[in-house]
Amino acid sequence: MTRYEAIIGLEVHVQLATNSKMFCGCKSAASSRTPVPESSAIQDVGPNTRTCPVCSGMPGALPVVNRKAVEYGVMAGLALNCQITRLTRWDRKNYHYPDLPKGYQISQHDLPLCHHGWLTVEADGRQKPIRIRRAHLEEDTGKSHHRGDHSLIDLNRSGVPLLEIVTEPDIRSAEEAYAYLTKLRTILRYLGVSTAEMEKGAMRCEPNVSIRPDGATEFGTRTEIKNLNSLRAVRAAIAYEVKRQTAVIESGGQVQCVTMGWDEHRNATAVQRTKEEVQDYRYFAEPDLPPLLVSREWVEEMRGRLPELPDAKRDRFIIQHQLSAYDAGVLVADMTVADFFEAAVCSYSGESKTISNWVSGELFRLMKESGLPMDAVQISPTELAELATLVDQGKINYSTAKDVLVEMFSHGGSATEIVRLGGLSQISDQGALQSAVTQVLAENPEQVRQYMAGKETIIQWLMGQVMHATRGKANPRVVIDVLREQLGSIE
Ligand code: ADP
Ligand code: ZN
Ligand code: MG
Repeated sequence: MTRYEAIIGLEVHVQLATNSKMFCGCKSAASSRTPVPESSAIQDVGPNTRTCPVCSGMPGALPVVNRKAVEYGVMAGLALNCQITRLTRWDRKNYHYPDLPKGYQISQHDLPLCHHGWLTVEADGRQKPIRIRRAHLEEDTGKSHHRGDHSLIDLNRSGVPLLEIVTEPDIRSAEEAYAYLTKLRTILRYLGVSTAEMEKGAMRCEPNVSIRPDGATEFGTRTEIKNLNSLRAVRAAIAYEVKRQTAVIESGGQVQCVTMGWDEHRNATAVQRTKEEVQDYRYFAEPDLPPLLVSREWVEEMRGRLPELPDAKRDRFIIQHQLSAYDAGVLVADMTVADFFEAAVCSYSGESKTISNWVSGELFRLMKESGLPMDAVQISPTELAELATLVDQGKINYSTAKDVLVEMFSHGGSATEIVRLGGLSQISDQGALQSAVTQVLAENPEQVRQYMAGKETIIQWLMGQVMHATRGKANPRVVIDVLREQLGSIE
């Protein structure tokens, strides 16, 4: 039976988080960096309140390039190992759609701002480079809202700066595509150039998918998938499309070059647009804008301002904090988490691994349960370090510490205070635990008999009873010692 290999290339549009739009001074709808509550973000600004003659496409209005958008584009390009084009220009991409008031989009067709880059992703336990063909600047369109028999148009998004990042067809599975997008999102957030939230449209991905028999050198006919608004949807849609194309070919058919739409409810792709309708964009140089010169000095100055990127941070964490590649990878996936971890390590004298465990274990669990991102957590790095120190000093045991963390997470406060107010100090005093152990043994003669008969594991159960009797405060190591001692003296 013939086996097939999937070939995938991704086109990603990223909204740049500049204050103003790409070619005018209007406030950019994509500018809010910190997550704002869903309702206020949408409702505070009415439709068409962030528009001017330029972004609403009035004849005669002239565009002016947003320097910050160019800077963000270059920074992203540098972080993606791209070459930066010194002298580039703007092109008009012509098409007609109600959300495009000028009848064309200003883009960069022939000379993209960035080209020939790469980004590595982990695939089958190895680092695999995915080549980036180009990354260019352009402007976003407005948004149509369809209401029954009529449509409404909102131009607030019209003219928001976009960076379109296109890969070579180097991706070989839905998982690799997922890994690429996750990594890309992390890098963009490190740079602060975009919120990169797919759910909010700040990052949009259109995968191109084809298959070919294993060993073939030619690519097969590809389809392009649209309407994907989460990383998970991208992964599911690619996997679906690979299966669909395989079935088409195996049944003797041919894959058609079409645009597919992803149907979130049916979990399936469906043809959206056929090749006959593919447009001729009649590209030509934008006459209203001069060529764009990005000097070497400016590029080097920006290179110097790049933050430590996720891969470099991960490698440093492995060496400096003696973490496994896995643990380091988990921490650097979010820069605010990585910063929190390092700040906590600074006020902690034990091993960094302990802090890493607290962060990626209990803290992540609480964040996930509550839906709070790292920067909304009210525990400070110093406070977490203090909690870990209390455990090291034997002042509280680990299970009490977990409860204390829950309290810190939901109501704030220092670990020391919470332990003091709640009387949660660990009981390590042998004398104090003797009576609790004696009582547990007296109340459970059957289990004691089993232990004496050789069932040694029952000691764990007895320990559980002692922990319960001491409201979880007993030092487990001391409890075990006292239990052994008392059981040993039973005839
Ligand atoms: P356009 O979609 O504008 O025609 P390109 O032809 O440059 O643009 O390709 C867009 C994307 O499709 C790129 O990411 C590229 O890697 C990918 N691609 C090109 N050919 C194939 C193929 N046969 N199978 C899968 N992806 C492909
Ligand atoms: Zn405007
Ligand atoms: Mg395309």
